[in-house]
Amino acid sequence: MKTFVKELVRTYGAAKPMNEEEVSAELPKFFLLRKFHGLIDLAIIFQTKRCQYQCAFCAIPSTSTRDHIDKSAIMSQFMVTCRELAHGLHLAERVSLSNDGSVLDPATFGRDALDQIIHATGALRGVREIHLESRTEFVNREILTHLKSLNKRVKFTILVGFETFDPTIRRELMRKNQELEAFEAAVAELGACGFDLGAFVLYKAHPDMVDDDAYHEAERSIDYLQSLATRHGLSVLVRLNPLYIAKGSLWDKQGKTATYVPPNLRDVYRLAIKKRAEGVRMFVGLSEEGLSRHGSTFRERLGYNGRVLQDCVRFNEDPTYLPTGVPTPIPTDV
Ligand code: SF4
Repeated sequence: MKTFVKELVRTYGAAKPMNEEEVSAELPKFFLLRKFHGLIDLAIIFQTKRCQYQCAFCAIPSTSTRDHIDKSAIMSQFMVTCRELAHGLHLAERVSLSNDGSVLDPATFGRDALDQIIHATGALRGVREIHLESRTEFVNREILTHLKSLNKRVKFTILVGFETFDPTIRRELMRKNQELEAFEAAVAELGACGFDLGAFVLYKAHPDMVDDDAYHEAERSIDYLQSLATRHGLSVLVRLNPLYIAKGSLWDKQGKTATYVPPNLRDVYRLAIKKRAEGVRMFVGLSEEGLSRHGSTFRERLGYNGRVLQDCVRFNEDPTYLPTGVPTPIPTDV
């Protein structure tokens, strides 16, 4: 019996695999009711047409279809999720909607479908936050105002892949196709409309970075985001993701794994603790979404110890948790 329960938890619990589900326009790519940053989160990654961008570090577009998925299929995906989670749905306190790209991009995610799904979250009385993953190109005042009208009880957060403050890495190495000026203008709109910001920051923003540079570059990016958020009167949740080389990404094709050393998770954790102690809302990204090239993740870093992973899980679950006695970080490559 214990084996039976263990298997269920492994298959459907927090470590539920991504990108292994049957591909169907009627089924979401991924869904989970999970504890996330202190709240019970209903997280859904919808199956839609692939992201139109081609960031050098990312292989997500290759895992999505080139075909348009219409609004009725997207709504079916939401209904499948609700039915599957029916017995726990009432526990949801946050809803996170993603399609491995931008749910605000009408070319991939029909606006009618998004409207109906957000409107439906009004039936979940415990939900107080809705997080929408997007790119800032799709953020404008008209859309933000409209989104707020669909569920007036919740606080909205727009979650974006910021990655780094370094303009050269953004433009030339990551090929993010998004200048800082445009990003800042979108953040100003978020602040003006009462939205919060969620931002992925890539720890080791380029495979050639050594540990010391990775630590300080990530810290500068977080400081920039916090300062920008303060300036525009909003709150930022930083999701600090240790780099891995995604299979099929441009960096993978360029052979970056040959000389690359994966990030040390202890350094990532130390930086997250430091920033939380300074008042920044921090979360450590621990999933490679089933996309990593063998040997490229923090788990395969020489000297990796699973205990730090458990520390990160605890840190993520409780946004007020601050461990004591963690030494000042002195990152070094091994
Ligand atoms: S990082 Fe985001 S915007 Fe860039 S290619 Fe991947 S999914 Fe698209």
